[in-house]
Amino acid sequence: MARQILQQCLDCSAWSLSTTCPSCGKNAQAAAPLKWSPEDHRADIRRKMYNVEDASWPQGLPTLPTLEEMRETAEMRAPDEEE
Ligand SMILES: [Zn+2]
Repeated sequence: MARQILQQCLDCSAWSLSTTCPSCGKNAQAAAPLKWSPEDHRADIRRKMYNVEDASWPQGLPTLPTLEEMRETAEMRAPDEEE
């Protein structure tokens, strides 16, 4: 789902509200990065909306594999790259 309404085509730069370009049919993406301010006036509302203060919230965050798991994955890939 698009996080911002206004989209711009990656190829022909046409503006659209859809992630598919109306002119050429290729992909369009958000026209500008999401706005963020350190003086976020809606932070309180957002924290309540995502229930951030609940103890189980951090467990739902995405995590990286451990360094050891990354090494194992890299070692498994290495022989293919030599071919
Ligand atoms: Zn286009």
